[in-house]
Amino acid sequence: MRHGHWIGGKPEEPANQAYLPTLDPTTRLPGDEVAAGSAPDVDRAVAAAVAAQPAWARRSAADRSEVLHGIADAMEAGADELIERERACTGKVPGQLRTEVEMSTAYFRYYAGILRAHQGRTIDQGAHSHTYTRLEPYGVVAVITPWNLPLNQACRALAPALAVGNAVVAKPSEFTSASTLHLARLATEAGLPDGLLNVVTGTGRDVGTPLALHPAVGRIAFTGSVATGRHLATVAADRIVPLTLELGGKSPLLVFADADLDRAVAAAVTAIGFNAGQVCSATTRLLVEASVHDEVVARVAEAVELLEPGVDFGPMITEAQYEKVLAHFETARAQGAVPVTGGSAYDHGLYIRPTVYADVDPALRIAREEVFGPVLVTMPFADEAEALTLANDTEYGLVAAVWSGDVARGLRLAERIDAGQVAINGGPLTIETPFGGYKRSGYGREKGIDALHEYARTKTVSLSIAQF
Ligand code: NAD
Repeated sequence: MRHGHWIGGKPEEPANQAYLPTLDPTTRLPGDEVAAGSAPDVDRAVAAAVAAQPAWARRSAADRSEVLHGIADAMEAGADELIERERACTGKVPGQLRTEVEMSTAYFRYYAGILRAHQGRTIDQGAHSHTYTRLEPYGVVAVITPWNLPLNQACRALAPALAVGNAVVAKPSEFTSASTLHLARLATEAGLPDGLLNVVTGTGRDVGTPLALHPAVGRIAFTGSVATGRHLATVAADRIVPLTLELGGKSPLLVFADADLDRAVAAAVTAIGFNAGQVCSATTRLLVEASVHDEVVARVAEAVELLEPGVDFGPMITEAQYEKVLAHFETARAQGAVPVTGGSAYDHGLYIRPTVYADVDPALRIAREEVFGPVLVTMPFADEAEALTLANDTEYGLVAAVWSGDVARGLRLAERIDAGQVAINGGPLTIETPFGGYKRSGYGREKGIDALHEYARTKTVSLSIAQF
């Protein structure tokens, strides 16, 4: 199948007539082709967004809410097609795909609801004035997303950006564009006015950078690697436009001896099983109190060995990521680390065995760098102080999980861990909870009410009503 861009409410051929190949990572056979966009395509999409946005912003919150609900309805009705588009280029397992499409739909429901309560305020400056704030959109928002949770990451930014009256030009990963393109079609058919959601596909260099540089783009939402985030932060700084950076992680999962070990072990297995560990918030550093370290490691290793490729977890989504994980195994081997389980690829598709390196030296690369694959490292700790030191011994700060029967200890650690979110004993992190990084995991917040504020700017209007 060949996919063009989605510009101004309809499919569009790329200006250069060129297409990029993709592959099915379960088989490594060729998959869909997507338009190889370039600057002229970006210009067309931004022009469509600029034309459509003012009328959208002038509509009432209730009106915009209805449209967003309509998109959610269309996504529910079209879930099977969205799942198929996502499956074809990611090879994800069926249960996970359905959950992801449901989560993606839920963003539109959630922001359709809360946008109606998103209001400015009046500021009391005494009887002789009337001062209030308006929450105004930026105009055109660029949404640049990666390949690991393609539809979910797009919707996480699109829904709040549209909710507050922006138009969007989305640039999905060139490896996984089909679901975002289909979403745009569904949204148009559901009544989203043409030009409000445009999708331009292609590489970061040929589409992402021209989009970020475009003078009519007023805000950038980026999810992806630290390297690209740094580049876009430079572009944004130069243009003086704000951006959100949702970057990587090497998040800790702390297990104390008094924890519910069954649930803690299950959480560690999920950390590398879900999406085969290709999740920015995956808690892939398992820090365990020394007295139960070996038991926990044995139980985790036993559980991950039962996971079946293609049934319980999917492949690496890109060939480059597959090669990267294998290179990590090589480096770990060269540095003297031996996995207690895994450490190699399957002989089909881009599947990699769930892997556990136990009791690793925190200085090793496998312990410090984000692998973005089904790879867990474990380290024992003696007490709470050492657990905290290890937890914070990373340049990242996205998520942390703490498992302990002592709730006060969980709360103490939550205050001291440098991460954007801390889950104690499996506490839920949902659409309602703000999500974003500390340190090199980025800045800005997605999800929750916070995201509405990210995509709107505050204008103060002050009026003197003094009698002269
Ligand atoms: P990436 O940075 O290579 O690509 C992300 C997006 O940026 C893609 O659409 C890509 O085409 C585009 N891009 C690449 N170079 C660009 C450039 N020079 N200018 C503009 N755009 C450019 O990242 P990836 O390999 O696709 O994704 C994996 C990374 O994403 C991991 O590090 C992971 O931790 C991170 N991630 C973070 C979150 C989060 O919410 N914090 C979520 C998922 C993934």
